[in-house]
Amino acid sequence: MARIVELRSDTFTQPTESMRKAMAVAEVGDDVWDEDPTIHRLQERAAQMVGMEASLFVPSGTMGNLCALLSHAQPGDEVIVEVDSHIFQNEVAGASAVGGLQLRPLNSENGRLQPEQISRVIRQPDIHEPRSALLCFENTHNRKGGTCLSPGQTEALCDVAHQAGLKVHLDGARVFNAAVAQQVDVRELTGPVDSVMFCLSKGLSAPVGSMLAGTAAFTERARRMRKMLGGGMRQAGVLAAAGLCALDEMVDRLADDHVNARRLAEGLQGLSEFDVDLATVETNMVFGQCRPPLTARQFIERCRTVGVLLDQASPDRWRMVTHRGVSADDVDYAIEAVRRLFLEPATTPLRATG
Ligand SMILES: *Cc1c(COP(=O)(O)O)cnc(C)c1O
Repeated sequence: MARIVELRSDTFTQPTESMRKAMAVAEVGDDVWDEDPTIHRLQERAAQMVGMEASLFVPSGTMGNLCALLSHAQPGDEVIVEVDSHIFQNEVAGASAVGGLQLRPLNSENGRLQPEQISRVIRQPDIHEPRSALLCFENTHNRKGGTCLSPGQTEALCDVAHQAGLKVHLDGARVFNAAVAQQVDVRELTGPVDSVMFCLSKGLSAPVGSMLAGTAAFTERARRMRKMLGGGMRQAGVLAAAGLCALDEMVDRLADDHVNARRLAEGLQGLSEFDVDLATVETNMVFGQCRPPLTARQFIERCRTVGVLLDQASPDRWRMVTHRGVSADDVDYAIEAVRRLFLEPATTPLRATG
């Protein structure tokens, strides 16, 4: 069979052997009745890891974010978000359609909102205006390149929001990537926020699920919202068992994905048909910009002919994501195969693979 390098997303990761074994023997109960012991263990472990009182297992990151927004804000409230955030761009306008919330999108460089921007748009009480209720930000920021917020930047953003009485929700779908890349305890990135969602099903390789963490009172509200959205699951401990493996076994190895992304970005740079956004490669993503007349669609189709799969970010931007299913050798193959498509040898020598 022809070689395939799956760079479309880290959501393509397959569950590990240890996950499948843990799933097979997981002790389960009815989690809507709050009686699934494996879910309990996962929720306790996740809360402890991110330094929160409690956490809730949710079927997807999208539902986790929506539960958070519905728990923090009321219909007619305004939620401040980054313009390229997943909540604004990729969650089917759930906050507005389901929650009756108004999203206030702000521009940023590389996904890093500035505290001054936030203080400028926070509204004073006025009968004409929506209430500013919540600030959301993303770490890592997906569409801006997998870029990280530091503990200091996180704290500064939370300070302006909290001083004005807003709550803060962190879309931390890949917050463990951010922690590993910056070599900080993830609690330094989650400590200052009121709630955090992170995905088990991306780089951490679990088949299904995300966690939503916050105070015990917040988590109870979120549990009601999850039920309302149809996310109350029964013997979901079989899924939680894989989630526990993800948290215990899959966090540290994210560093390998970051090394591979950097190598991929450097290996692909210098071709005349597209630019690689080297400056934004901080974690497991590589974005590139096609030069006209090449379009992202054409680029993706040409790469597919040599087994290199990637995703479109816009008509002229593409995205490659490294993960457990992509080895260093796969990266070297992808670099060579793509360069051959464009008939230019690598400018930096490839590692000898023996
Ligand atoms: C993937 C992702 C989500 C949503 O997770 P799903 O499980 O796909 O619903 C939310 N935010 C960001 C930044 C993501 O990358």
